[in-house]
Amino acid sequence: MTEIHSCPICSAEVPHWERFPNQVCEKCANKTSDAYGRRIKFSNESLSGGLRAFYLDNGAKYDRQLCYIDGKKCFANEHRFGGIVIEIVKK
Ligand SMILES: [Zn+2]
Repeated sequence: MTEIHSCPICSAEVPHWERFPNQVCEKCANKTSDAYGRRIKFSNESLSGGLRAFYLDNGAKYDRQLCYIDGKKCFANEHRFGGIVIEIVKK
């Protein structure tokens, strides 16, 4: 059985992982930006993992895990099985 929860940003259904209860959906995870609205893309460093992020406009490195989606503060993490998890930061 696959558990789901609602995306904290757009309410879409998200597969639920106990470790990442505030995970946003894939659509929202693709809209990450910095505090100024500049788009950021998070990805794995290599097949064995590692987190890296770049600005979409010029490819410059973004060396923080904090990001924003629709103005909401989020945090990017590496998923245990590879891939990226974006979670909203609850106040
Ligand atoms: Zn969403």
